[in-house]
Amino acid sequence: MATYQKILIAVDLSSESELVLKRAQLIAGPNAEMHVVYVQEPMDNVYVGIVPQSAAFSGLGDLEAQLGEELKEKLSALGEKFELSSNYLHILHGSPAHEIHRFAKENGSQLIVIGTHGQRGLQLLLGSTANSVLHGADCDVLSVRIGATL
Ligand code: AMP
Repeated sequence: MATYQKILIAVDLSSESELVLKRAQLIAGPNAEMHVVYVQEPMDNVYVGIVPQSAAFSGLGDLEAQLGEELKEKLSALGEKFELSSNYLHILHGSPAHEIHRFAKENGSQLIVIGTHGQRGLQLLLGSTANSVLHGADCDVLSVRIGATL
């Protein structure tokens, strides 16, 4: 079987991202395109219901832009560590599962690599990013169990 040549690696930019990337590297073909994707969710989505609306929305745009810059720096540091071209580092905006599916389709990705925590209880009921990505993906999906050692 031919190795995967176009891989989408979904990262949340936490420390677990390196494990997900290492696993992807292990199964990538020698000249595979490894596209690393982080999806920035709109802050009003994240904080609605937690922060009173008036406080949440004033100045949210600035905060979002500042956060965007920090995320960009984190992603490029991760890319440098794994020697990936900056052309393969992507920050998208919206809902993670939706954007990951869209990017995978448009990019012709053959594999999506994503972390999973092996949800239980309430988390299982509510679903996780990995679950949402798995359902509706048009290509293979590898879920990397966080906490596993390589
Ligand atoms: P979660 O289920 O949300 O804890 O996330 C598990 C995995 O989903 C992470 O290890 C990433 O692979 C992926 N993921 C979570 N959030 C994002 C995000 N905002 N953008 C891209 N991938 C994400």
